Amino acid sequence: MTNGHQLRVYNSLGRRVEDFIPSGDVTGMYSCGPTVYVFPHLGNMRPYVFADTVRRALRWKGLRVRHVVNITDVGHAVSDADTGEDKMEVAAARERRSVLEIAEFYTQAFFDDIAALNILPAAAYPRASAYVPQMIEFAATLQARGYTYQLPSGLYFDTARFPRYGELAQLHAEGQLEAARVEPVPGRRHKTDFALWRTEEPGRRRVLRWDSPWGWGTPGWHLECSVMSIALLGPHFDIHTGGVDHRELHHVNEIAQSEAFLADGKPWVRYWLHNEFLQLGGAKMAKSAGGAPRLADLTAAGYHPAAFRLFLLGGHYRSQLDFTLAAMDAAQATLRRLAARIQPLRPLPAVETLDAARAAVARTGDPAAARALDLLDAAIAADFNTPRLLAALQDALRDPEITPEGLRTVTAAADALLGLGLAGLDPADLETRRSAGDLTPGERHAIEQLVADRTRAREEHDWARADQIRAELDARGVDLTDAPEGPVWYLRLRAATCGDACGLSAAHEHLSVFIQSATSTAARARERWRQ
Ligand SMILES: [Zn+2]
Repeated sequence: MTNGHQLRVYNSLGRRVEDFIPSGDVTGMYSCGPTVYVFPHLGNMRPYVFADTVRRALRWKGLRVRHVVNITDVGHAVSDADTGEDKMEVAAARERRSVLEIAEFYTQAFFDDIAALNILPAAAYPRASAYVPQMIEFAATLQARGYTYQLPSGLYFDTARFPRYGELAQLHAEGQLEAARVEPVPGRRHKTDFALWRTEEPGRRRVLRWDSPWGWGTPGWHLECSVMSIALLGPHFDIHTGGVDHRELHHVNEIAQSEAFLADGKPWVRYWLHNEFLQLGGAKMAKSAGGAPRLADLTAAGYHPAAFRLFLLGGHYRSQLDFTLAAMDAAQATLRRLAARIQPLRPLPAVETLDAARAAVARTGDPAAARALDLLDAAIAADFNTPRLLAALQDALRDPEITPEGLRTVTAAADALLGLGLAGLDPADLETRRSAGDLTPGERHAIEQLVADRTRAREEHDWARADQIRAELDARGVDLTDAPEGPVWYLRLRAATCGDACGLSAAHEHLSVFIQSATSTAARARERWRQ
């Protein structure tokens, strides 16, 4: 039995789709993790859902994976160019808590979110603060090999000593790289040089500080990923993932220092996979651009975390995706229909690999199910094409030729790749309408009065009045259907009818105001840019 369609991935190193060929029995995979100083927002979660899709695809192909995700609890400066104060220390001062308390609290928040999104746990979540001695050793090795120079502000990597610097970003001219960097560092030889060690300024003692050959201070942010990935996955491993922003700077620096350190002439990591941004109002969703909603904001407003996951998977990972409430409504409605369709097929079998799925389908002798499996496999093998995978599942669920037994296997196989938890989702948890029970008696009476007025207007052929009342109901979040037995009305989830008295509606309003304000902030920023 062949292993199905060859897994093809878009490698940022070279910018092309290539066959994925694992180098050994276990595929090592590293994903840049969160800096734990604030709550992660929805845009922060896209890289982890993407990395999870990669893991599920490798598992599907029968490959064993060792996945490592770091937790940055020290060393991430306020600016990505690695200058300024440490993000952790700024947060600690803001919240009047210790740096350790801040790190612990927001690490837990990150774990809560990835668990809610049904992301498979990594083999290890190393904390940067636990690897500082190894980072010092790593930097000292680079210094001994002549790759560094020292300034009063720290130890710097001399990028001119590394001829392949910037290959991943495909930016070879210094002028181009300059555009990505902002704050000048006195004495730095090239704009692209970056700190391996940041020595604390005299008289400005840092909260988290270590002694080093270059004085008391903290490691540079890029260093931790090289050190911890090599410590936990070995000197070379197959896959490194992250957001596309890392492709231009952080990963460029990781490669330079790692290959200078290993000095074996081999590429450090073979496949670099980057996901595009989640957009809000036409700009990258970011804390700084006027706020960004969290997963908790979505769930408080009545959306299921799996609906957010479905929304993400509904776009290809290399496409920018616009976050809107309309898109979330659509995702939740799709998920509800899927759950309702799958409910009678339960219990679903446990099928995680193509081989297991094929064996199960072979036992039932269902050619339609075998065809459907092949389509799922083709979709995931084509650079993780989750929109195609979702469409293939929906087609299978509509296919009149497929047997219920075959459909059970196909559904379980699709969900092993999608990770939506379809085996257990209750359609009732995915209602996109509020129940009329959420209304106060007064609100309910007002709506029923309007519905009755509209019925009368229609009986009197006063269509203008009927339309006007319908618009008023719509503004109150009421959907009206004219059934044979008379008008039936529903409350949409997004409604402003019951104000603060109704928790769900209030949370939804809060979320939509949030999104509107972020959208207009982004629009204003674009406007300023144009002027
Ligand atoms: Zn990293």
